[in-house]
Amino acid sequence: MELVVRTASAEETRAAGEALAPLLQPGDAVVLCGDLGAGKTTLVQGVARGLGIGTTVTSPTFTLVKQYDGRLPLTHADVFRLRRVQDVIDLGLEESDGVVVVEWGDVVEDLFSGERLRIRLTTSPDDSRRVVVAATGGSWTGRWERLEQAFEPWTERP
Ligand code: ADP
Ligand code: MG
Repeated sequence: MELVVRTASAEETRAAGEALAPLLQPGDAVVLCGDLGAGKTTLVQGVARGLGIGTTVTSPTFTLVKQYDGRLPLTHADVFRLRRVQDVIDLGLEESDGVVVVEWGDVVEDLFSGERLRIRLTTSPDDSRRVVVAATGGSWTGRWERLEQAFEPWTERP
């Protein structure tokens, strides 16, 4: 299951994250991929807003993991600087009952066996972002149609 959308501004990327939030369930893992500045943290800001988290979400690059309380607990990790899969395991990310969002998840993707949503952001020359959302696992099969509807405002028209 894969869908592609395009967001024209940082606020649109936040709005897409906000639209995703109502679909999230306890135990979900969302892996965000994309270069530095692609908009991963911006998207998490929208997810946080959609979960009713009042605190401003900032990049956890130097702290690695930050936790917030909302409709579901949100764990926001940035594992860019981690080089070994064991370092990521040591963070205990795979044991949350809330939602775990990991930036730069190429290394950690395998930890979230089965169920996960992977979102890859790519910067275009006009500063818009191509956003590819790919889901793995049965629980996302049941939610996929709602997810497509949630992202409908940013769907790329041919
Ligand atoms: P990352 O976490 O991937 O390194 P950030 O979200 O921290 O990226 O930064 C993205 C930067 O790009 C922000 O300064 C944001 O305002 C800017 N930006 C410009 N256009 C967009 C867009 N369409 N989507 C997301 N961010 C955008
Ligand atoms: Mg970031």
